[in-house]
Amino acid sequence: MKKKILQLTLENAVAFKGKANPKAVMNKIIPTVKDKSKLRAIGKEVSDTIKKVNKLSLSKQKAQLKKINPSFFNKKVKVKKELIDLPNVGKNFRARFAPSASGPLHIGHALVISLNKIYADKYKGKHILRIEDTNPDANFKEFYKMIPKDYTWLAGKPSETYIQSARIKTYYKYAEQLIKMGHLYVCEETPEEVKAKLKKGIQPFGRRDDLKEVLRKWKRMLTGKYNPGEAVVRVKTNLKGKNPALKEWVAFRISGGKHPKVGNKVRVWPLMNFSVAIDDYDLKMTHVIRGKDHEDNTKKQKMIYDFLGWTYPEYIHLGRINFKNMIISASDVRKGVEEGKYTGYDDERVETLASIRKRGIKAKSLLKFFYEMGPTKRDKTVDKKEVYKTLDALNRKL
Ligand code: GLU
Repeated sequence: MKKKILQLTLENAVAFKGKANPKAVMNKIIPTVKDKSKLRAIGKEVSDTIKKVNKLSLSKQKAQLKKINPSFFNKKVKVKKELIDLPNVGKNFRARFAPSASGPLHIGHALVISLNKIYADKYKGKHILRIEDTNPDANFKEFYKMIPKDYTWLAGKPSETYIQSARIKTYYKYAEQLIKMGHLYVCEETPEEVKAKLKKGIQPFGRRDDLKEVLRKWKRMLTGKYNPGEAVVRVKTNLKGKNPALKEWVAFRISGGKHPKVGNKVRVWPLMNFSVAIDDYDLKMTHVIRGKDHEDNTKKQKMIYDFLGWTYPEYIHLGRINFKNMIISASDVRKGVEEGKYTGYDDERVETLASIRKRGIKAKSLLKFFYEMGPTKRDKTVDKKEVYKTLDALNRKL
């Protein structure tokens, strides 16, 4: 018993900065004592032992404990955290990562890529890369190569890859279907005019057009009869709804910009919520993991699902991760590289995947980092120093 008391006291002291607590030690001892009449004597032994142990320095306590119970120190190795299960996983798990080609992939993207990959492996499903480039002015040639390369470095080759600018016909097909069902219309008013009307609960012009008229205007859009800004396609939404951001949102617009992939061949472009909803359905996504900044977008995308009677994927909205002291903004990085402030997309001052790779961090370390973070819903701030300390430690273990 004496030995047992000494061991538990040392363990408690080592765990709590060199000071063992009598109550904590007693609580561990009591369940092991069969003859309760001995408790008094045991209590005395505990308090004597604590006095002795607490007088020792922490390093002496550790040394002594190592002799009597070396496995105590093994226990401290972090046990592998179990990844929480996602809801409603069936046979064909499919998750996508959907960046635009507006900048290089960075540590912020790595969370979703990692989770998609980890869950795809766990559920024997697919992790899909979809480049979302329906804004001709915000997508740039170099990223069409860089994104798949960096993605593959981190998560292995995506199970499938899609590029939205190659899927325009699909968006037009569904647009026409939705126009015919009366859910979309062509609006020739400016955003300011529409906003003012919606505030007063008035319908924008075009909303009451009959089907023939909407189709005529839609054809005019497709055949270049309007200039950019002269017409958009809007979704008919609940005009009495409380959230102004969800009202009469724009599904298509006209852009005169030269697209890095298709040049000037396409002028009528879907906006994110339309193309994302169509693609998530059309490409059979079962789980959509993304930041909670997409919550309003999810509501808009669900409208399209509802119009067409489709079943939603599972939407998992992650908490916002604030990467403190890290430069990740696509435009900042791009500008910095263009202006020569950074040596390239792998400059050590920016947290792109290319730069992290160049530092010698292994993809597995990054995956493990995000595995441990998991699909957390809570907002979080992580600082550059702290991130690299953890990544370096994971790297060393590898
Ligand atoms: N391409 C969009 C973005 O990067 C959509 C993302 C998503 O739906 O996951 O914000």
